[in-house]
Amino acid sequence: MGLLEGKNALVFGLANDKSIAWGITQAFHREGANIGISYAGEMLERRVKPLAEQVGCKWLEECDVTKDDQIAAVAEKAAKHFGKIDVLVHSIAFAGRDELSRPYYQTSREGFKNALDISVFSFVALTNAFLPHLNSGASVMCLTYGSGATKVAPHYNVMGVAKAALESSTRYLAYDLGPQKIRVNAISAGPIRTLAAAGVGGFRDMYKHFADLSPLRENVTIEDVGNTAVFLASDLSARITGEVLYIDSGFNIMGVQMPNKEEKGEGQ
Ligand code: NAP
Repeated sequence: MGLLEGKNALVFGLANDKSIAWGITQAFHREGANIGISYAGEMLERRVKPLAEQVGCKWLEECDVTKDDQIAAVAEKAAKHFGKIDVLVHSIAFAGRDELSRPYYQTSREGFKNALDISVFSFVALTNAFLPHLNSGASVMCLTYGSGATKVAPHYNVMGVAKAALESSTRYLAYDLGPQKIRVNAISAGPIRTLAAAGVGGFRDMYKHFADLSPLRENVTIEDVGNTAVFLASDLSARITGEVLYIDSGFNIMGVQMPNKEEKGEGQ
């Protein structure tokens, strides 16, 4: 029997088969969850529909999270289809390309607002809209990059600031929803090649060096993140809330980061 047998799980933020949301969706399906998928806009439907079919998903809804009416409508539709919801995943972020390549002090007011609205406020708004439909014992989660939120990741800029706010929101939501036995956590994934990541200046180099610099000497996959999401969605993590869980081959524990020269025969 799967770890999520009988649970209704909604995943927001599926764009294509490279998306972290797809790794999570596949892992949830493998563990027996009934899946619902939400995507950003009409443009994505063509790519997302065949993926939904692969996991037997019968609830596929568009939702632009900058629109309050769309958030309210999607929550109502989900409640109608599933009844109560056990798992809610927010795998959504956006920042303009300019904001992720020029220095942070040049962030525009509009760019700041957009990034924080889509990448942070939407997590709060979705949680609020779904709250009446969440089961006691439900698990809510979001995706962050902790090394860019708590430290400086060059070029991550306003997205690092947004992730800091997202992680803080995770803790405040966990406090608010604790009495209802609803858990709220964040998964901090190491760099993965996705559409969103492609917008971050210097991402390619960051991705390449990540494996050299992290204790496990390996990059992270969407499957790794999917398995962690299963843990957080399942009753195995019943007393874990308000946490940021790093899935990053140990990258975040490192202080001064030096390439592992000895392993490449360049040492001594
Ligand atoms: P992705 O496949 O591009 O997913 C990002 C999703 O956010 C897309 O489906 C995107 O839709 C959606 N989105 C953007 N604006 C939206 C809006 N207004 N309404 C609804 N959805 C909207 O990239 P990903 O890397 O899997 O990102 C998923 C999450 O993981 C993000 O929170 C990201 O910051 C986080 N994360 C990523 C990495 C990494 O290295 N890839 C590492 C750590 C954390 P559109 O394509 O239509 O914009």
